[in-house]
Amino acid sequence: MAIEIKENVPLASLTTFGIGGGAKYLTEVKTDVELREAIIWARDRITSFHILSGGSNVLIPDEGLRGLVIRIVSDSYVFNGLNLIADAGCNLTMLIREAGRRGLGGWESLAGIPGSIGGAIRGNAGAFGSELKDYTFAVRAYNHETGELRTFVNEACHFAYRSSYFKQHFEWIILNVEVALREIGPQESAEGHHAA
Ligand SMILES: Cc1cc2nc3c(=O)[nH]c(=O)nc-3n(C[C@H](O)[C@H](O)[C@H](O)COP(=O)(O)OP(=O)(O)OC[C@H]3O[C@@H](n4cnc5c(N)ncnc54)[C@H](O)[C@@H]3O)c2cc1C
Repeated sequence: MAIEIKENVPLASLTTFGIGGGAKYLTEVKTDVELREAIIWARDRITSFHILSGGSNVLIPDEGLRGLVIRIVSDSYVFNGLNLIADAGCNLTMLIREAGRRGLGGWESLAGIPGSIGGAIRGNAGAFGSELKDYTFAVRAYNHETGELRTFVNEACHFAYRSSYFKQHFEWIILNVEVALREIGPQESAEGHHAA
């Protein structure tokens, strides 16, 4: 087994609010294979699991979390023409900056929203009148109940105000995201924008 399972891990430092108890078990996953291994590990022990990514939109209860916390730390991304395909664990603001360096953007008003692009898709994060849905081309996700891998086009993501299909259907875990960007000039770079 490639994944490492840690026991009795404090969670406060993994969240923006910095409070709350620990995880009975915690593992960090970088790949789809590791994610599946972690879910099988939890299932084999008949224990629950919780997905955590950037930790900027969660409050951990003082008594902590029983079961396995699966922290998504996948961090690969690739540019394909005007599109960017990024792992769910990639930090959103980092991606906006990296795209800007390549002269690609349009989504600069989202720079400064803390957390991962996976978390941002789930909650259709937004700032200054624009939202992730405005740039999302497709989302690849894994159904931990059926084992199905599916690519959701924008319309299938059912984006709504701070919501999406994935927020309503917790059985789907976001693996990676393809966003459609446009060419921008240097004056539009993310440096000048800070959300929240
Ligand atoms: C200071 C501050 C400013 C903020 N400003 C804004 C703002 O301007 N606009 C805005 O929209 N939000 C804002 N937020 C909220 C937060 O940043 C966003 O909701 C962010 O997108 C959450 O991403 P995350 O990776 O931190 O998710 P986490 O906090 O790790 O997780 C949030 C939820 O998403 C689930 N989740 C995480 N990754 C996945 C995945 N890959 N697949 C399925 N489920 C997943 C988790 O299980 C959890 O239920 C702000 C938060 C803070 C603390």
